[in-house]
Amino acid sequence: MTRDEIRIYVLDYLAGRLTCKKWVEMVTDYLEGSLSLWPRIRFHLHLGLCNGCRHYLQQVRTTIKTTQQLPREPTPPHVREELIRRFRSMSSS
Ligand SMILES: [Zn+2]
Repeated sequence: MTRDEIRIYVLDYLAGRLTCKKWVEMVTDYLEGSLSLWPRIRFHLHLGLCNGCRHYLQQVRTTIKTTQQLPREPTPPHVREELIRRFRSMSSS
């Protein structure tokens, strides 16, 4: 077994220890840039070897991009008035 083959084997082994379920739990931290070095390496190893998770990450990125493009609609006046009325009644009781 060559050195490169051993390296690939070790990487495959380490990436395989991170299940898809655990990987999905890391996605938010990854996107927020809050994964430390080793978890980030494991995240990328899994990403490189798992089509399902690559597809999932792509969907999450598309969803974020799409929701960021939605116009911010103001609260309708009747809803706003009703909310203020309810908050006032809560604070007076
Ligand atoms: Zn996966």
